Amino acid sequence: MSEGENVKVAVRVRPFNGREKERNATLIIEMSGAQTKITDPSGANEEKKFTFDFSYWSHDGCKDDGSGYFAPDTSHSNGKKFADQQKVFNELGVGVLKNAWEGYNSTLFAYGQTGSGKSWSMVGYGVNKGIVPLYCDMLFKDIAKKKEEGAKEQFEVTFSMLEIYNENCRDLLDSSGKKAALRVRQHPKSGFYADGLNEVPVGSYEEIEQRTAEGTRNRTVASTKMNATSSRAHTIVCIKFIQKSVNDAGEEMAKSSEVNLVDLAGSERAESTGATGDRLKEGAAINQSLSSLGNCIAALADQAGGKNTRVPYRNSVLTKLLKNALGGNSKTIMIAALSPADINYDETLSTLRYADRAKQIKCSAKVNEDPTAALIRELQEENEKLKQMLATGKVDVSLMEGDDTADMTDEERAAMKNELKEEYESMLEKNKKDMDNMEAEFQKRLEEAKLTSDYGSIAEINEKKKKHPHLYNLNMDPQMTGKIIHFIIEDDCTIIGNGKGEGTDLTLRGGSIIDIHCKINHKDGVFTLETFPNARTLRNGKAVTNETKTLKHHDRLVFGTTQFFVFANPLDTSGCKVEEPTFEMAQAEIATKSGGFDMSGANKSREEALLQQELLEIMPAVEEANSVSEALGKKKRFDLMIVSPEARGELNGRTEVMVKMTCTDTKHEWIWDRNKFIDRKCIMSEMMDKYEDGLEWQVPQDKDPFYDDPKADFHIGSVKMWLQSVSYMIESNETLDVTDFKGSPVGKMSIGVFPCDPKGKEFTEKDDKFVEDPNALVGKNIDFKVKIVNARGLPNKYTDVYCKYKVYLEDKFTQTKAIKDTTNPDFNHERVVSMQGTQENVDFLKTGAFIVQIWGKQKDQKPKAGNKLKMAAAGGQGLHVVNTNQQRFDPEKVKYMMEVTALKKRQEKMEHKLTHMRKMIEVAEEHQKRKVSTKLIKDIYNAPTNDQAEKCIALIPLEKGRKQ
Ligand code: ADP
Ligand code: MG
Repeated sequence: MSEGENVKVAVRVRPFNGREKERNATLIIEMSGAQTKITDPSGANEEKKFTFDFSYWSHDGCKDDGSGYFAPDTSHSNGKKFADQQKVFNELGVGVLKNAWEGYNSTLFAYGQTGSGKSWSMVGYGVNKGIVPLYCDMLFKDIAKKKEEGAKEQFEVTFSMLEIYNENCRDLLDSSGKKAALRVRQHPKSGFYADGLNEVPVGSYEEIEQRTAEGTRNRTVASTKMNATSSRAHTIVCIKFIQKSVNDAGEEMAKSSEVNLVDLAGSERAESTGATGDRLKEGAAINQSLSSLGNCIAALADQAGGKNTRVPYRNSVLTKLLKNALGGNSKTIMIAALSPADINYDETLSTLRYADRAKQIKCSAKVNEDPTAALIRELQEENEKLKQMLATGKVDVSLMEGDDTADMTDEERAAMKNELKEEYESMLEKNKKDMDNMEAEFQKRLEEAKLTSDYGSIAEINEKKKKHPHLYNLNMDPQMTGKIIHFIIEDDCTIIGNGKGEGTDLTLRGGSIIDIHCKINHKDGVFTLETFPNARTLRNGKAVTNETKTLKHHDRLVFGTTQFFVFANPLDTSGCKVEEPTFEMAQAEIATKSGGFDMSGANKSREEALLQQELLEIMPAVEEANSVSEALGKKKRFDLMIVSPEARGELNGRTEVMVKMTCTDTKHEWIWDRNKFIDRKCIMSEMMDKYEDGLEWQVPQDKDPFYDDPKADFHIGSVKMWLQSVSYMIESNETLDVTDFKGSPVGKMSIGVFPCDPKGKEFTEKDDKFVEDPNALVGKNIDFKVKIVNARGLPNKYTDVYCKYKVYLEDKFTQTKAIKDTTNPDFNHERVVSMQGTQENVDFLKTGAFIVQIWGKQKDQKPKAGNKLKMAAAGGQGLHVVNTNQQRFDPEKVKYMMEVTALKKRQEKMEHKLTHMRKMIEVAEEHQKRKVSTKLIKDIYNAPTNDQAEKCIALIPLEKGRKQ
């Protein structure tokens, strides 16, 4: 790479996962050469094409080479284009390594939604090693080779890994760059948090891995920290590489490079920040980091295009850290990880667009040769300047930091210059000393960092796993699965608890784990799980509280609310029908067995599959929120809800998962959408972490994720009013169910639509506006009155009740007045809606509807003794689910009912006409008329009322014409 080169962008598409295969998901990504094509699965058949520097097809065309490594399958039609881990490393990682040797900085970051394959590319799984381990392996190998060849240089490698969480983000924004990063919590996978080390000198990749394992050795710490949703954190691995040599003149030279390998947080909510309008926006700081990365990328792309744009690095921790990587002295590569499945279309498309913008950025990189020498040179230059300034009395503000020199007096400036000069001189001095000490210190630290482990190496543990019964953890992030291993000792009893009980063998923290939570007994080769009252324990998705069960290989266990484990008995796999369990599998079976959801993948539509995916994400989060609330005494209960668009008061959209928070004291309720809940749950987890670490966890109300405004308007329920009758110019006056978020009726509403003139005068029979075919309205103006008369039997807890609604394309809600303190509000609202009789409008009336939402405030309720909502978390069997029945509220039924009413009215009209025609014939026959004029027939047929018809019929005998 040379100066001014663009950011290199690679896209990579992963295989279908288990759920996608089960569902026969549609493939939406195609790749040929440098081109990636994405197809809209909604049937619009829209295609979008993108071109990138590297395009990696890792979807199919591979097979297990026997060791578990996925290598290209030459017998497969896509075998040739299949990109395995090695290929990706060869094309991206090797170049970065070459840069490092030459003294360039590099940054490689992985972007994409959770589950798209970021960690697969960056870290890899098992023998399918990703860029980070392959990079380290090769770096250490190259160093060894150089040394063997008799290189005189000294080589230093330091490794650090950190994770940016929500926590501290506010503080961090006030300080700058790297320093800030050091205050960010250490990465649970790195294991560095225990000793607070930020940078560790390393001699091999094994050592790094060992350290990773070391971190999980302290299971108590690991088990809580690992619950942090890693999809909400950015992981930055920084590998510093310094080559030191002495040049011919005997001066010490150093070439250094810094390589950042960044596994970004899931991008799925990057753009949703703020959309929820949640007061606790800072909770979404991770999103903020991602969206400000997006903004920086856009600004840099603009710059590359010649625009003079400021790049907003300072808006987030992440962008501050990556400042060099993006715009400064670095070479940058981005890997955009793509899901190939139909349900991820929107996210995948937005990832492609993000990547497309990133490729326009230009970087400028220069060799970091001898930073000390460069610093000395700079200092000397500055000293020269200082001297000159002192001599001429002119101030070069570039030497001063910030703007605070502006209002200084000349004396102050002079003093400051002197200070600076002294500072620089002492710096010169110190730098020399540091150079001398550095080498010695590095060696010492390397020695200190050497691991002393009584637990054996990773390889030893892996061997032991093959022979000994053990428990291992399952985590939402597959990267963290299997990181906690507990071997079960023969003829012994393993006690699982929160660490406060006596003789605990496996200490687990987090939601609802009690002192002695449960036991696993191992006797004569038989394993049993013994559970106790009030200790939530699930085995294969079913609660086994207060009983004893035999354990089988691959049984899934949940302790409390957040601790997922698998029991593995490698000695007896005979009866095992379950393949290697995954977190999703364990979660799905809980949803099925405890929640009553249908989680099977077969024959599911895209919408149903999306809903299932949301459920799998939200269910454990709801359980966790409840246990945190209970542990911290927050008196809030969380329930999951499945909400149809109608129940949300919307006409379109899909069924979604929402969460209801209830105050157990006051019974106040708040309904949160999924994003708001997930954002807040992350802050709750942080609180719990602090609480368990014995740190100050209390926050003021305005930062409390458990607090929401009790005075906020609450959506009580909605009513869907069909408009079909209007398309026949017939009025419709109904009493309809008001249904709440759950789809349950919470009252009745008297509502109607009445065809009228533009001024609002309702048409009567006499006006004869009825049409037999709605298309007769095309070309005419259509006016009708919406009447919201009243609501009856609303729940007692609301006051200031009002309705709001929009009809068809109206862009503003119409709101009724608010009625105080009654369960039977009379709104007496009337409004004329005027439409042009376009074909489109008429078609809408024929099949369309509008929704009236009823809102109100929740009344203050004094907490009553014995009136407490139960916190079901501790001993509870099932899940916190309010409604599992998505079909309870059936708007189709209402539509059908109203259609029948309209039909009846139409029929009535037709019957009247028929009666008039019969009467006409009778009278004609009576008067022996052989002919009746068409005009008269028409008048009779079209007569709007009986009277009118009678009058016309009476004219028949008077008509001229021959008798029969
Ligand atoms: P992310 O880090 O983006 O959340 P992961 O890298 O953990 O996603 O991938 C999610 C799942 O998909 C993992 O179980 C992983 O094994 C699988 N996966 C991702 N990319 C690939 C790939 N290229 N080949 C095989 N499996 C993959
Ligand atoms: Mg990941």
